[in-house]
Amino acid sequence: MSKVEKAKRKISFPHMGTISYAWSAALRIIGCEPFVEPYTSKKALSLGTKHAPEAICLPYKLILGNFIEAIEGGTDYVAMITSPGCCRLGEYGKCIANALTDLGYEAKYLELQLYDGLKGMYNFLLEASGKNNPFLFCRAIFIAMLKVFLLDKLETRLSYCRAREINQGDAEKHYNKSLKIIDQYDTVLGLRKASKLVKEEMSKVEINPNKEVLYVDITGEIYLVNDEFSNQNIEKELGRMGVQVRRSLTVSSFLKDAIIPKAFRKGETHLQRANRLAKPYLMRDIGGDALECVSDVAYANERGIDGIIHISPFTCMPEIMSQNIFPAMRENCEIPILPLIMDEQTGRAGYITRIEAFVDLMRRRKRRRQMQKISEQTPNQPTNSTV
Ligand code: SF4
Repeated sequence: MSKVEKAKRKISFPHMGTISYAWSAALRIIGCEPFVEPYTSKKALSLGTKHAPEAICLPYKLILGNFIEAIEGGTDYVAMITSPGCCRLGEYGKCIANALTDLGYEAKYLELQLYDGLKGMYNFLLEASGKNNPFLFCRAIFIAMLKVFLLDKLETRLSYCRAREINQGDAEKHYNKSLKIIDQYDTVLGLRKASKLVKEEMSKVEINPNKEVLYVDITGEIYLVNDEFSNQNIEKELGRMGVQVRRSLTVSSFLKDAIIPKAFRKGETHLQRANRLAKPYLMRDIGGDALECVSDVAYANERGIDGIIHISPFTCMPEIMSQNIFPAMRENCEIPILPLIMDEQTGRAGYITRIEAFVDLMRRRKRRRQMQKISEQTPNQPTNSTV
């Protein structure tokens, strides 16, 4: 066997939030070398934009940019997550593979068919590792899933702390340390220990638990909702303004719907809730995350949340549909909705101004409601006049 064949295969995935921590663990377990390219940046965006069709959606451009950076950095393989669907996602894989070939890159292209569930993951690991070891593959999948759940839990804690931190940037500092802790462990016992350490780390953030914060749900296209570069770190901005953010569209919720067998799930999943709550407005899945978005608005309204932000890429077909359904939802849902459409031209200043204005609106609305409640509870003052 030649030295090159003996060397570990370097495999790279595109970024999306903190997902690289999970796939890196799975690749290490099967004996490959995870190649983590620099986090998505303006450089990746301009590389992707330069080599992508102009009207294609933003995630495609960013993923292509990630791949170009990974290949130029020395990866042997690039792996793409694909799924069939009514939108462009079904075509992403082939388009990206063709674009890389046209650019003259020789890195091999792998595909992970997510909607084939565990079978799709197994086939991917088989192709990536070049060996058939069911035990190892089951371990890799299990550990990657545990990491995803731990990372999502950590992000929920981050959002809670950010909105209440006393020293700005404190929560972020401890969050980054927690990410490093999670990255160190690739076993069940190790992750149990990591979970404890992360809890301790995040408890060091000095917070004001009595601070009056606003609660906002974020929904939209899953990539933009979870990727801080493409959503211009909206959660950080909102946290700075004293807003606690919550997302239903997370990687762990996706795993529950698409990968984890029914017997192992607890409670109603996001997709099941989407089918239930979106029904009056949207009868069936029309691709992307439109069904989930419509139901997320109804769900946020049901819980009396202060507002909901919908983030979508410019030209995203399913999200254009969901945005057009929101006005019809006004009849039953009085929650404020802020739609944000992102592309490579989106300027930061205007974007922040819109978020600030929305936060201001929610704050005034909340105060008005609180005053109304107080005046309804206060009995009428007796007058001095005698009858
Ligand atoms: S959901 Fe929208 S952004 Fe995502 S691949 Fe489909 S069309 Fe593009």
